[in-house]
Amino acid sequence: METYYLYTFESTHGAIYCHKLLREQMDAVMMPVLREISASCGMAVRVPAGDAVRSAELMLAQDEAEFALYRVENGHDVTRLDPHELANANNKTGVRNMSENYLGCNIPKLGFGLMRLPQKDGVIDVEQVKKMADHFMAKGFTYFDTAYVYGGGASELAAKEAIVERFPRESFQLADKLPVIDIKKEEDMEAFVQTSLERTGAGYFDFYLLHAMNASKVEICDKFNAWDFMVKLKERGIARHIGFSFHDKPEVLDDILTKHPELEFVQLQINYADWDSDNVQSRRCYEVAKKHNKPVTVMEPVKGGSLVTMTPAVRETFQAANPNASIASWAVRFVASLPGLITVLSGMSDLAQMEDNTSYMEHFVPLNDEEYKVIDKVVGLLRSTPTIPCTACKYCVDGCPMQINIPGIFAAYNTLLVYGNERGAKSSYKMATRDRGMASSCVHCLQCEAQCPQQINITERLHEIAGILEE
Ligand code: SF4
Ligand code: SF4
Repeated sequence: METYYLYTFESTHGAIYCHKLLREQMDAVMMPVLREISASCGMAVRVPAGDAVRSAELMLAQDEAEFALYRVENGHDVTRLDPHELANANNKTGVRNMSENYLGCNIPKLGFGLMRLPQKDGVIDVEQVKKMADHFMAKGFTYFDTAYVYGGGASELAAKEAIVERFPRESFQLADKLPVIDIKKEEDMEAFVQTSLERTGAGYFDFYLLHAMNASKVEICDKFNAWDFMVKLKERGIARHIGFSFHDKPEVLDDILTKHPELEFVQLQINYADWDSDNVQSRRCYEVAKKHNKPVTVMEPVKGGSLVTMTPAVRETFQAANPNASIASWAVRFVASLPGLITVLSGMSDLAQMEDNTSYMEHFVPLNDEEYKVIDKVVGLLRSTPTIPCTACKYCVDGCPMQINIPGIFAAYNTLLVYGNERGAKSSYKMATRDRGMASSCVHCLQCEAQCPQQINITERLHEIAGILEE
């Protein structure tokens, strides 16, 4: 049964007053006080779990009625709550709330990322994608995310077959992306958009993004005036809203948003493992977006699958806290608890993942204090896992006669050490060694070790990695 939140009152007048106050902003209904709860006026106000935080903020802001707050699960499991704690749930990050009626505030907070679609015989299994889309839409979710480059265009074609041709166009949002890295001349941009429109058959894109922006792609956008191109797409009705996905430092994000306030939203990589990491810096990027009052679409909430696999110690920690919650649910709920989101994209690869994600996101409840403590504990476990202490300074790379991407290989191996994610580590290893030397091609000249400020025994570690990640 669904979880809901219940306000009880000292007086009937208070119940009527607060019911009126809450129902202006949410689906608040009056009902008799449950018999599990005593000492009240007899009437209570029930609000959906998804509006719990907002309701607590509204109730605390009024001084007309004394009240108590309860969470009700399974129809009768009642827990009394501190409304101040609930209202603060969105502020655990220390980030201020943005305006209430922001772009995307009404979009359900789980989006279907179409980057890792299920495969059959080496191609996308469109029949399974149809089943996933049916389930997703039936549960009330509406946001789909694809890109020109995903699967070399196969993702856009799958979107057409499984979504665009099967659901009324206004019943869902489709996001697509301009491949900035491939722009060689100004006319390319229009050609990319027309190809995406043709492949998807969507007619227009609800959200259209400059793909994977960073400092070097800003230069491309400047050179070909992609900024104005995006604004014109909006004026032409091809894009309803324009923004960009982002992979760089918060300072670069701040610079883009300062120079280009016409961009309405930003897609950021956010997850609890990267929240305070040195490379991704999710928290600081999120804070920059909030500073500019831009809503955020979240990508990589499970860090490319790493926060689903996890080591036995981490799995035990989560399971001890809640044996019924999937490991992925902790990661998705962590990001979905942030204020100011358009949605949280999950790159679901089969129906089972879809059913798990929708099960806890259909009636989303933000993380509570105890659950944040569990996440903190897990982050501590991740940080304390021994890894190769490579800082990616690359001092070792230039002199290597075998052109081995040493920091890239170490990063791939660290994924295995920290998250137990063998599949992800092997995939990263393949990327790191594409057109470069393999770990096993090391000729032990020791030039790299003489350069390494971290004094890593590079040759020994490469030998170890070759035995584990090479196939
Ligand atoms: S020891 Fe191996 S990895 Fe290091 S520079 Fe020589 S060949 Fe490259
Ligand atoms: S020199 Fe050492 S720390 Fe720097 S990239 Fe190479 S292995 Fe990593």
